[in-house]
Amino acid sequence: MDRIKVGNSQYIRDLNLAGIFKLIHQYGPVSRKELAENTGYSAATISNHVKRLISMGFVIETEKGSSTGGRKPVYLTVNPDKGRIFSIDIEVKQVKLVMFNLKLELEGQKTFPIFDKDKPEGVIRQILLEIEKMLQEMGLTAEDILGLGVAVPGLVDRGKNLLEFAPNLGWRNLEVVKPFAKKYSLPIVLENEAKAAAIGEREFVYPQAKNMVYISINEGIGCGIIFDGELYRGASGNAGEFGHIIIDSDGPKCHCGNHGCWETLASENFIINSYARLNNIMLTKDEIYQKGKEGEQGVIEIFKETGKNIGIGLVNILNSLSPELMVIGGDITRIKDYIFPDIINVLKEKALSISHEKADIKFSKLGNLATVYGLAKLVFDKSIDFV
Ligand SMILES: [Zn+2]
Repeated sequence: MDRIKVGNSQYIRDLNLAGIFKLIHQYGPVSRKELAENTGYSAATISNHVKRLISMGFVIETEKGSSTGGRKPVYLTVNPDKGRIFSIDIEVKQVKLVMFNLKLELEGQKTFPIFDKDKPEGVIRQILLEIEKMLQEMGLTAEDILGLGVAVPGLVDRGKNLLEFAPNLGWRNLEVVKPFAKKYSLPIVLENEAKAAAIGEREFVYPQAKNMVYISINEGIGCGIIFDGELYRGASGNAGEFGHIIIDSDGPKCHCGNHGCWETLASENFIINSYARLNNIMLTKDEIYQKGKEGEQGVIEIFKETGKNIGIGLVNILNSLSPELMVIGGDITRIKDYIFPDIINVLKEKALSISHEKADIKFSKLGNLATVYGLAKLVFDKSIDFV
């Protein structure tokens, strides 16, 4: 334990302030009495810090429900208008920009296409413009922003705020945070899209889940591991690259240099490439999904094979980590009804029953918003620091 910090009463007080704010955020509307009764804080500590939070504008008083007679108790809740968080999800073909209020409620949302992914600086410039536009439309200014989160479909070095490699964008060693930091002197979080989505799904849908794996299947496959309630990052910060477990060493070549990685056999790129091989024509995934929904038998066969291959990767994850929950997200969920039966069959057939019995398999409830919700939570945690 750090003696200097523990001996510094100012530090302790501020830490308590942040702690009490987070409790109000999590449980509000909540009364001062409830806060004192359910935490280790004394009534006096609660009262002092709440006063400060109210004067700072972070917390407001409210009335909850109907009174049972007598004086209505006063409840505390987070002031949603105190600050906004912007979540920026950079995908392969588009950018999703979402604004949250301080209660982490979605307030604004915009998606725009990436016209030229070979010019990342142009993409970032456009994002900055869109943030300004959204602020204006909402009658807000940069002063209202609490922090920003940026998600990318690739490996990140969070220490250096660097995007190391996003294969499907072709971006490498890119200081993706720098232009944002230049414009806004605010907390900024850079995260891999699947890891952010894992945090989003866990925080907003399965807050009780201790051990879960989120599998994001789009053009490639990314994963986020929640271990004992926290995102597991590993030594490199990029743990969970299950997209590159080798399923078939004679399989298609992967951009990582190996052959037959899971993502070459179970992603949307697999669907696109399989269709092209069978029909000698390269269609977009939207066109192929449409053909599947219209009942084209060849496409449905590809979907089924994709489901089987997804199942094989999930067996490996299940047998290695034994999570209580595996959540499948990403654009692949658009064809979930076609892939799910094969996923379940492969798991039944091949997974160790002791792990399989304990695990639930679900599709993401937040859908294509899981990443932006996770970013909002990460930015919130980084921003709420009253020291
Ligand atoms: Zn690979």
